[in-house]
Amino acid sequence: MSEEKKTSLESIGEFGLIEELTKDFKSKRESTIYGVGDDAALIAKDDENVTLISTDALVEGIHFNLMYTPLMHLGYKAVVVNLSDIYAMNGAAEQITVSIAASSRFPKEALEELYKGIHKACEIYNVDLIGGDTTSSVSGLMISVTAIGTAKKEDVVYRNGAKENELIVVTGDLGAAYMGLQILEREKSVYKANPDIQPDLDGYDYLLERQLKPEARKDIVRFLKELDVKPTAMIDVSDGLASELFHICNQSNVGANIYDEKLPIDTKVSTTAIDFDISPTTCVLNGGEDYELLFSIKQEDFDKIKGNPHMTVIGHFTSKDSGLYLIDKQGAAIQLKAQGWNHFKGE
Ligand code: ADP
Ligand code: MG
Repeated sequence: MSEEKKTSLESIGEFGLIEELTKDFKSKRESTIYGVGDDAALIAKDDENVTLISTDALVEGIHFNLMYTPLMHLGYKAVVVNLSDIYAMNGAAEQITVSIAASSRFPKEALEELYKGIHKACEIYNVDLIGGDTTSSVSGLMISVTAIGTAKKEDVVYRNGAKENELIVVTGDLGAAYMGLQILEREKSVYKANPDIQPDLDGYDYLLERQLKPEARKDIVRFLKELDVKPTAMIDVSDGLASELFHICNQSNVGANIYDEKLPIDTKVSTTAIDFDISPTTCVLNGGEDYELLFSIKQEDFDKIKGNPHMTVIGHFTSKDSGLYLIDKQGAAIQLKAQGWNHFKGE
């Protein structure tokens, strides 16, 4: 074993690694409808309904920094990011389990704060905490949440159903959580250099809230039902628009054109990005943690969502051979690169 050539996780990347590790697992159970590869797995429930399951872990130092993350917000966020994956399947979230590993640095009171946030999310999203696991860790805190949901089989939306010429739609606005993180990191550096200086967070409420206490788009699942629109493919925007678009295009065998001028960006995101010398478009494409939904709809459904304040059409799918492009404000086509998704790069 020690003589064998070793592959670094950095060189293979997160998705390459998942593929390698899971490739030999073939489903044996009739009840397993869909396993690895989408926002949530599907298990048969009865003739008409399926159970949806999704897991995500948050690790101190990787996903959060307790210097500026209140534990209550962290608990809330840990739940929300998991529910988001259930909504991304067009499902309803019903239960969660929560596992934590904490070092001796954390007193009971700290974990109670964390659980206040978890409780709040359970109230707001109407889900039950039904179990979990508690263990110690050598250093730091880890929270792993599993979300369980349900959907009618015929309502489930996968990542792989988008077709050429269909419209690409995104909910809410993008890039704010990333700019919120930049603000927090800047103030952390200022504080480290001089602990007497108070953090200057005034006027950044929206960006900070999007980073520290994001919401999942449960409402969109309801709106789509009310509008009688079933997306042909859907994913939640956890890693940045470019990366999520890549997932849909790869799995649906299509290409895409999205238009810079159509991207939904809050004014505060643009102005703050420019202050930081970052292009607002880059925040949207590669920022991540927005927890909005990205989906495709048939052209004939356009009238149903036209003018909807929660949804923006940002482009359309093309043939696979055409590739993925951002059309900039001057009309030039810039090839999209998936960034922001590789947890093992540069760390
Ligand atoms: P998301 O960004 O929606 O949370 P991920 O990128 O984390 O999705 O995961 C992609 C797919 O790979 C999912 O189906 C997930 O369940 C699966 N997956 C991720 N890590 C592992 C692992 N270590 N073992 C088995 N399956 C995994
Ligand atoms: Mg997801």
